[in-house]
Amino acid sequence: MPSFFRLATIAALFTAALVSAVPINDPNSNPSVLQKRAGGATVIYRCTIPGTIAITFDDGPFLYTNGLLDILKSRNVKATFFFNGNNYGRIEDFAPSVKRAYQDGHQVASHTWDHKDLTTLSPPEALEELTKLEDAFRKIIGVRPTYVRPPFAALNQPVLDLLGQRNYTAVLWSQDTMDWAHPDDFSASYKLYEQLFNNTETLGQPGHIVLQHEVNQVTALQVAPMAIDLALVKGYKVVTVGECLGDPKSNWYIN
Ligand SMILES: [Zn+2]
Repeated sequence: MPSFFRLATIAALFTAALVSAVPINDPNSNPSVLQKRAGGATVIYRCTIPGTIAITFDDGPFLYTNGLLDILKSRNVKATFFFNGNNYGRIEDFAPSVKRAYQDGHQVASHTWDHKDLTTLSPPEALEELTKLEDAFRKIIGVRPTYVRPPFAALNQPVLDLLGQRNYTAVLWSQDTMDWAHPDDFSASYKLYEQLFNNTETLGQPGHIVLQHEVNQVTALQVAPMAIDLALVKGYKVVTVGECLGDPKSNWYIN
């Protein structure tokens, strides 16, 4: 099929998905789409800068955040944390880890207060999922993030409108390690990184946004360091989502 039609088909599928309130949970099937503007919010699927990789850690802060920060520091690389307010841990209880992630130069972003599917909530409930965490972030780091990952990648038109009104950019992913499905299986997650990095042709293409969960000890303390080391050996830049999009740090947070 000519590539124009393929792209047009993909774009049409995405538009249909966005306007029909169907949760978008399989961005891997649309690798050509880097980002899309919908309902006042931009939805990001993939980096735009070639040779970058943005590893993202969801569902914290939790027990392994600090150890993961040590690993990132020892390798002098940056990552993105999509924190919840009340999920595996409560954000107040892990405030020092959140503050450290911010001060170490990682991108601190929202994964909503307690990880509900925003598309199932009333507008005031969905708003509260955002604002409650914004308030907590202001207390801990003095600002609130402008990047958000909707739990379960669930987006519909009202949620996109809400995110746009709150000045959020929604971040999904282009590679899912599926670590949540095999939490104790190191090789299952690591294999994906090997596939990604052993293909050096991808160095010249827009980088990947990889989904991981830092609440999984194997992910945070075993897969992450090995994956980062492999990325660096293969010549990738391990950066935040903002950096892999060329978005200056001053845009990642507002008051
Ligand atoms: Zn999550």
